[in-house]
Amino acid sequence: LFFKKTYSVLSSAEIVSKEKSNMTEDRFEHCIGVSKTAKKLAELNQYDEDKAALAGFIHDYAKQVSVEEYREVIKTKGFDQDLLNWNRSIWHGIVGTYFIQRDLKINDTEILTAVRRHTTADVEMTTLDKIVFMADYIEPGRSFPGVEEARKITYANIDRGVGYQLAHTLEFLIEKRNKIYPRTLDAYNVWGIKE
Ligand code: GDP
Ligand code: FE
Ligand code: FE
Ligand code: FE
Repeated sequence: LFFKKTYSVLSSAEIVSKEKSNMTEDRFEHCIGVSKTAKKLAELNQYDEDKAALAGFIHDYAKQVSVEEYREVIKTKGFDQDLLNWNRSIWHGIVGTYFIQRDLKINDTEILTAVRRHTTADVEMTTLDKIVFMADYIEPGRSFPGVEEARKITYANIDRGVGYQLAHTLEFLIEKRNKIYPRTLDAYNVWGIKE
């Protein structure tokens, strides 16, 4: 694993080692899969492949930070206090950027925005946001009913992939009677509906 371009004062090797020590082996493998898929999607969508590979690699950096640490950061680092009503599924993107800046020393706005939006998506999605959001969903380690269709659609047209994921994630959350983060719903109303 090696990232050519520097988005941090840390070396590529230091970023890889910090990432590895902050998560389980399975989660680390997922991040490698997202990185590779993001690179492929970048090539297909004329985006910087090295930058997409790095954003994909670090997207879940803070997934396994403790609930206590998240609550403390939300309370003291200027985050919307409504986040206290959510959980790590929502925090690791939006608040995860805090830990990525603090530990990985990555301050690139495009990368941080893509991490922030990778779980819920948003009304506005940049090319990098779409790449990370979709790579997370279709990387080779993912297996769920519909993943093959998701891959086919996404490789043909990334915007339609975003709509597919939002519709299917909402179906899945509603089936389980889970709480829906309003931004996920707002994003669905932009990317998910058929004209
Ligand atoms: P992962 O970090 O690689 O497992 O993937 P994601 O970051 O995309 O998603 C994390 C979890 O958040 C998944 O289980 C999603 O189903 C869930 N999720 C996505 N949107 C919402 C939402 O609006 N509300 C809730 N409660 N969960 C969501
Ligand atoms: Fe995630
Ligand atoms: Fe996702
Ligand atoms: Fe992920």
